[in-house]
Order: sequence, then structure tokens, then C-alpha cells
Amino acid sequence: MNYPEFLRTAMVAAHREAGKGHVADYIPALAGAVPDAFGMALATVDGELHGVGNWKEPFSIQSISKLFSLALVLAEGGNALWTRVGREPSGTPFNSLVQLEAERGIPRNPFINAGAVVVTDRLQTLTGDASRSVLGFLRAESGNPGISIDPAVAASEAAHGHRNAALAHFIASHGNLDNTVAVVLEEYFAHCSISASCGDLALAGRFLASHGVRADGTRMLSSTEAKRVNAVLLTCGTYDAAGEFAYRVGLPAKSGVGGGVLAILPGRAALCAWSPALDRAGNSVGAVAAIEAFTTATGLSIF
Ligand code: GLU
Repeated sequence: MNYPEFLRTAMVAAHREAGKGHVADYIPALAGAVPDAFGMALATVDGELHGVGNWKEPFSIQSISKLFSLALVLAEGGNALWTRVGREPSGTPFNSLVQLEAERGIPRNPFINAGAVVVTDRLQTLTGDASRSVLGFLRAESGNPGISIDPAVAASEAAHGHRNAALAHFIASHGNLDNTVAVVLEEYFAHCSISASCGDLALAGRFLASHGVRADGTRMLSSTEAKRVNAVLLTCGTYDAAGEFAYRVGLPAKSGVGGGVLAILPGRAALCAWSPALDRAGNSVGAVAAIEAFTTATGLSIF
């Protein structure tokens, strides 16, 4: 398959849309991003890496980190997590508090903020350093030791993180945190504040295309676990618009408010697009347009 040509097709589609939404500004450190910046990269299970646009430029990965923290918890701790967090789409915004009250502190899925807080707590218990384990995984899979946590973004999140703090305290009040709220929030903000490029993220997400096998050939997840993570990505990975994303794109994916979207073509490749301006659900307008154009032009989706 001529991936470079299809990536160029996707970039043309993205340029028609990029910049149409709004850059996330509820985290002030993200507000200065260039709305219509764009990059896209694809890493195949056979070792090819292709990119277009600013695919080597680091950006704030934000909620894309939730995919990696979940995979690390499943790899280290097995299925015990699923008594503490569900696997159903939420139907509410990513930072919503309403369901937690009715559902007694058990978040609906691992990709809304409440669920990611529980996953971070579990990863902290398993590893003693949740954010460094996510960072180490990204560095190892991408082969890029320069990937780092942006301290300005982490501080900005902490200073404006009242909603996440409320979620964490509420979960703790139901006995669903093992570590202190302060530690869990610090680790959560830190892994959300990792800066990495489309190329880095495509390489780091490739283990899900390889049915759970890492870049060094070791198995991280069983193929059944990898299937399950991909399934939760499909149903819950793109905020309260996962149905629309599946309809348009047809791939499991995780988005972040930094404007990145990491999508998985099982058995074939991982694909990451980035453009900072977001739609109302919080997904990047340009990145979604690019990945939609890619799956439409190539005919590659899970359907
Ligand atoms: N750190 C962000 C928050 O907690 C992540 C949001 C996102 O990318 O969905 O609000």
C-alpha cells in the first residue's frame, strides 16, 4: 500500500477543516497552541514509519495518555481493575460529575476523567510512579528518549483542576482510591502533560495493532486483552462523540484536548493525527477529518 500518498490525501482533507474549532483554553497553558497546525504519522506492524505535515512536532498528549495508563495497568495487574471501573460509554462529557453520584464512585469507563483517575491510582499502586511508567513506555516504544512531561502544562492543570479534584475526592469518598487524592492527581496531571509528536505516538500505539506485542518483540497484553482495549477505545475513546467517530472513521481511537487523535488499524498499523482546534465534544476537527479521509481513501477500517 502506498501509505505516503494516502497520508497526503488525508492532509489535503485536514487542511480544509483544520482551525475550524476552538483550542482548549480551560487549561491556560494549552491556550497558545496554533489552531490550524497539523501533522500525521503512521507506523506499521512491519516497521514502516511515514509522516506528513508537522509530524515530528511535540504537542500535549493529554487524554491520549489514558490509553497507555490503561494498557500498563492491564499488563501489570490483570483484570482486577474492572471491579473498580466500567466499560460502557458515558453519554456525558469527559469531566462530568453526575454519573459518579448515581453509580457510587465507580466510573463508567477508563477514558472519562473519573475512570482515568482510578486507572492512575491503580498504576501508582502497581508501579510506585504512574506518570514515569507511562513516560518510560512512550520513550521505549518510540525510541525517543527526548519525550518528556511539560512542567508548565502540569502546573497549569493543577492550578485549574477543580473539577478533576472534585472527581477524585468523590471517588475517594466511595473507597475507590488506594492512594491519596493529592498523589493521584499529581500523577494524573503529569501523564496528561507529556509532550510527544505524531510519530512518537504512532510508534507507541503500535502494540495495539500488533495484538499486544511491543516494539522489542515482547508480549505486553494477550491478544484477547488487546482486543478488549481496542473495543473500549471504539466505544469510549473519543468523548461523547464515539458513535459519530465510529460512523465517520471506523477505527478504535483515543483523542486528547491537545488536539491529537491516535487510531488503531488492528493487524496493520497505528495512525496519529494532530491539529489543536477542537469541536464541541473535544475532538480535533482537523485530525478527525484527516483520519476519516485516510480510512475512506484506503478502505482500511475495522468494518
Ligand atoms: N488533563 C485533561 C483534563 O483532565 C485531559 C482532558 C482530555 O484530554 O480529555 O481535563
